[in-house]
Amino acid sequence: MLKKILSPKSCADCRVCCVFDREDIWEIPLLSEELISYIKENLDSDIKYEKQGDEYRLLMSFNDGEELSYCPVLTETGCALGDKKPFDCRVWPFRVNRISDNLCGITVSPVCECVSSVSLKKLSDFLFDNSEGESLADVMFSYVKKHPENIKPYIEKYPILAIKEM
Ligand code: SF4
Ligand code: SF4
Repeated sequence: MLKKILSPKSCADCRVCCVFDREDIWEIPLLSEELISYIKENLDSDIKYEKQGDEYRLLMSFNDGEELSYCPVLTETGCALGDKKPFDCRVWPFRVNRISDNLCGITVSPVCECVSSVSLKKLSDFLFDNSEGESLADVMFSYVKKHPENIKPYIEKYPILAIKEM
């Protein structure tokens, strides 16, 4: 989804966003029931998860003394879900945040150094580009309208690229 601004090679060399520390638990991607079934049937029948709203959050395991845990579907060659990645991962490092009671915004996380090094103008153009159909901004706002549990809390100073009443 982000290939115009982020190369698969950059991600293969990085994989930062598939690793979580104990304070990042709220950032772990949410998965649909269908995706959980797919993982159980094809990748890991013992996968652990918990319900969150209408979706499911994978449970990470932290070994004693370890601060970091890898997403259970991350492999040596990248995400085992391929094109089936959950919404959170398909649009990362963009995400929808709750800015106020009635406003949501699309922000870009500075954790992804590759994308956050692109100018805000270029990111904004990319987000609103509808030359090949629905823009990414529309896709993201539509998705969280149906699945509001994917709206994250806003982190101060994250650049806001789009804003919508919802
Ligand atoms: S942090 Fe950015 S570059 Fe690194 S794996 Fe995630 S999306 Fe790719
Ligand atoms: S689902 Fe895939 S892309 Fe998302 S955090 Fe896990 S390994 Fe990474």
